[in-house]
Amino acid sequence: MLEFLWKSETRPWRVIVVGAGFAGLSAARELEKRRDVELTVLDRSNHHLFQPLLYQVATGGLNPSEIASPIRSLFRDSPRATVMLGSMTGIDRRKRTIQIDDSGSTLPYDYLIVAVGGRTSYFGHPEWESRAPGLKTLDDARNIRQGVLLAFERAEMEEDPEIRRRLMTVAVIGGGPTGVEMAGALAELRTHVLSREFKRIRPEDARVLLLEAGPRLLSGFPEKASATALSELGRLGVEVLLGETVEDIGTDSVRTNRRSLSAENVIWAAGVQGHPLGSLLEAPLDRAGRVKIAPELHLPHDERVFCLGDMTSLENRHGKPLPGVAPVAAQQGKHAARNIGRLIDGKRPKPFRYFDKGSMATIGRKSAVAVLPGGIVLSGWTAWLGWLAVHLAFLVDVQNRLVVMFRWAWAYLGWKWNVRLIDDVQHHPSPPATVMSSPTGAGLPG
Ligand SMILES: Cc1cc2nc3c(=O)[nH]c(=O)nc-3n(C[C@H](O)[C@H](O)[C@H](O)COP(=O)(O)OP(=O)(O)OC[C@H]3O[C@@H](n4cnc5c(N)ncnc54)[C@H](O)[C@@H]3O)c2cc1C
Repeated sequence: MLEFLWKSETRPWRVIVVGAGFAGLSAARELEKRRDVELTVLDRSNHHLFQPLLYQVATGGLNPSEIASPIRSLFRDSPRATVMLGSMTGIDRRKRTIQIDDSGSTLPYDYLIVAVGGRTSYFGHPEWESRAPGLKTLDDARNIRQGVLLAFERAEMEEDPEIRRRLMTVAVIGGGPTGVEMAGALAELRTHVLSREFKRIRPEDARVLLLEAGPRLLSGFPEKASATALSELGRLGVEVLLGETVEDIGTDSVRTNRRSLSAENVIWAAGVQGHPLGSLLEAPLDRAGRVKIAPELHLPHDERVFCLGDMTSLENRHGKPLPGVAPVAAQQGKHAARNIGRLIDGKRPKPFRYFDKGSMATIGRKSAVAVLPGGIVLSGWTAWLGWLAVHLAFLVDVQNRLVVMFRWAWAYLGWKWNVRLIDDVQHHPSPPATVMSSPTGAGLPG
């Protein structure tokens, strides 16, 4: 009854979208079409980030700005959309307000969409984070790039072969799509890019390790795709270690159930968990801390608050959990916006159905695996071209699309990955005296 009375009002409906990732952005895009909605998009960062290409920033292939688009610019032509920079820190569902930052400022809503993504999970070992950075933000990608490039610089000046070997070892933990893509790109960086530029060390001898606890890579893909990924990574010289459960990560080593490995850089690509904000929504959480939502995508028993994307847990109609991937988030965003429209119009919201168009992972240049609906597996060139096309199409910014296309073509033709700034020179170690006094390289590693 109350809903009906509200519908008869002509007031604009205040809808807040928190998080302009894949889910939030697609919801906002749909909501901005409605004249009766006053839209606010709130994000703690000023850009929408295309996470699937983060690994290329981490390996020097792309600039951070090429996979990030200012949220404000995405809504510049939307008269009814306001963009705000800030973090949602709390909610009062009774008063229908959210808290922003720690300043105590609040924003009222009629409908709320919370889509703040997931967090890297260290499986109960938060202390590993400082040693093994995850790959979730641009800062993560820049830190990884910095760590890997600095290690090669230090190796160039190092005389002790054991230390040199450690400096030239990168261990990637987690054999899912991110780990596979990361390991493949690191192997190519080493073999085709750095090998031409260092004169004292042989970067092509650097070790790229990929550790996976399970019996195969890409466990969410069919076995044929896992086998292809394994052989393609082998071709690139990645040492894939299956059945290796990480038990400890030290300052320059990784201990697994089977061995201890010396590695200067360790990259964590193993787990995702819910966002801490999820626990403030007074809704049930799954074991990974993700919010269990209703099939219509709102919180159970609250049709005013929708929750989407990586921070949530929802099963498809066959009882299988939906994967934490961009298409799920984007489709949920559109669906949630339409359900809000239905509620405003006095209709019932509809349950969400995921339309699975397949999944893919690239394994270096000219190689990828793609799984199409129906379980058809493509690999090699065809899959790689498909991967390029899909990733370009998903970049939200036309300018970025063109720049990325140009960079890929340039890299393809000349193996030039030139986005290799080492920003933080503070961490650059002083070269040993012998190196400084030995311009001919005498006494240095060959
Ligand atoms: C390295 C990597 C590679 C990936 N590769 C692929 C791939 O190849 N294919 C694929 O389909 N998927 C891939 N994914 C997964 C995909 O990126 C996610 O499923 C998708 O981004 C989820 O979208 P989302 O909107 O839920 O969250 P996100 O895209 O993570 O967006 C969350 C947004 O919320 C904002 N936010 C966070 N906290 C707050 C707060 N308190 N207040 C306000 N704003 C906040 C963030 O700044 C961010 O903009 C990859 C993920 C990673 C990390």
